[in-house]
Amino acid sequence: MEIEIIAVGGYDEVGRNMTAVRCGKDIVIFDMGLRLDQLMIHEDAEVDEMHSLDLIKIRAIPDDTVLQKVEGAVKAIVCSHGHLDHIGAIPKLAHRYKAPIISTPYATELIRQQIEGEKKFGVANRLVPLRAGQKFTISPTLVLEFVRTQHSIIDTVTPVLHTPHGAVVYACDFKFDRTPVIGEPPDFARMRQIGKEGVLALIVESTYIHRPGRCPSERIARDLVRDVITSFEDDKNGIVVSTFSSHISRLKTIAECAHEIGRKPVFLGRSMEKYSVTAEQMKFVSFPKTASVYGNRKTVDRMMRQMMKEGKDKFLPIVTGHQGEPGSTLTRIALGETPFQIAKGDKVIFSANIIPNPMNVGSRYALTHRLKFAGARVFEDLHVSGHAYREDHYEFLQILNPQHIIPAHADITMTAAYAEFAGELGYTANSTVHPVKNGSRVRVH
Ligand SMILES: [Zn+2]
Repeated sequence: MEIEIIAVGGYDEVGRNMTAVRCGKDIVIFDMGLRLDQLMIHEDAEVDEMHSLDLIKIRAIPDDTVLQKVEGAVKAIVCSHGHLDHIGAIPKLAHRYKAPIISTPYATELIRQQIEGEKKFGVANRLVPLRAGQKFTISPTLVLEFVRTQHSIIDTVTPVLHTPHGAVVYACDFKFDRTPVIGEPPDFARMRQIGKEGVLALIVESTYIHRPGRCPSERIARDLVRDVITSFEDDKNGIVVSTFSSHISRLKTIAECAHEIGRKPVFLGRSMEKYSVTAEQMKFVSFPKTASVYGNRKTVDRMMRQMMKEGKDKFLPIVTGHQGEPGSTLTRIALGETPFQIAKGDKVIFSANIIPNPMNVGSRYALTHRLKFAGARVFEDLHVSGHAYREDHYEFLQILNPQHIIPAHADITMTAAYAEFAGELGYTANSTVHPVKNGSRVRVH
């Protein structure tokens, strides 16, 4: 049986991830993601109503037309977690394939909501929730297994495709967090077993291969956030925290710190509502009883008026907009467009890094400048990453010992850096480690 890996998207950029694995005549697709910064450049784009080919043209979704030349039928679409750069293109592309969409329960629910919001296409693919530790038979020769891992969103797995010639492991995205805030550490025992059974190919994120050491645990971020939020004596000023709305562990930490200092945690913004309510309903998390959530702009503004009336020191708003995204709650606060007004001495805490592209760097600079100008004290980078660093990658290769490696989830500078790193461990570029571009095909058997 021939086995090849087809790099569809996410190999020339960070975002719009999509990889296909062909085993004989069966094709399995891993992820169908969106590239968000491309959409920000094309600000007038109404994504819900746009056609796939137009979105491909602006490089916002993967160019899956390369699959037209691949002989075989797509048997399954598999998503490793619920981040938009992994599931965001499903409403635009999945209907072209007569295949179920298999993902973890939380990601499946997010995918269901995505499909519901789609206005252009009817997506009728069957949604199959699969838990970490479970298996799913795709065809007489292919079995999919979900292995538990950790990342910056709950319910993330490393999908493993068992083929007659060994396992194909899709490790996008992951971190080796042994002391996570929500959920269990990665299932190292099972990974070691899979490594012993034989790994034909590892498709692996290479985003932070250049960062030395290992990625700090989410426990460290919890300490950083707690250290700041709980450290103000008799403070009557406002405290606003901005973080990733999909980062449920972080939201839990922030809400608990707010509760600890006697302020009511208030999640503000549509995406805050979407991710936190879904996670709580599915019992992945329980926020303090004093927590509340307001999604649409009208209710957000009404809640802000209440905060101004009752006193900012009674509440702790948790908002979107840490990258300075236009229209987000924090951007609106900074522009003075909300009932919540920044006053001298108010604290604004960023529990997020700057996502390193020029657009974000510029908007974030403008945002913090405006906040400071209004008198805010700004705390930056109370954050740890959700992605593996160099020594995590080293550990992973020791565990899996794959025959072939395909570095993914990055542009060529990062995938080439991964290839160099693998070279130090005995792999050979273009023979056993393959830094590829979107549209490339690699035969591994
Ligand atoms: Zn991710």
